[in-house]
Amino acid sequence: MDCLFCKIVEGKIPAKKIYEDEQVIAFHDINPHAPVHFLVIPKTHIATLADITEDDRALVGHMIYTGQRLAKELGCEEGFRTVFNCNAQGGQTVYHIHLHVLGQRQMSWPPG
Ligand code: 5GP
Repeated sequence: MDCLFCKIVEGKIPAKKIYEDEQVIAFHDINPHAPVHFLVIPKTHIATLADITEDDRALVGHMIYTGQRLAKELGCEEGFRTVFNCNAQGGQTVYHIHLHVLGQRQMSWPPG
């Protein structure tokens, strides 16, 4: 399967890794939209958030838990933004689910 983030999981493409355990990897976004902008991805391939099943609930919870923990470690105690873009209309460009975590700047609403 030709998946960019699976290649990062396998170490075939380099990434600035922040954290890794048996279920997830977190790494800095290559094109950051905030002073802190990293992604948390599962090691298993799931294309979009719309594809998760009941069996993935703990995994997605672990992604969110990991994201908030790392956000605080990276100095985002005052707040941060978490985003899952889903499918084309949701703005997704890489089809391996990922949680965006952005921080250390004032966020606005609504998103574009
Ligand atoms: P999406 O638009 O699918 O929600 O987000 C994909 C994110 O992956 C984008 O923010 C993009 O900058 C990031 N990205 C794409 N290719 C790479 C890469 O090779 N390395 C890293 N670290 N981030 C990437």
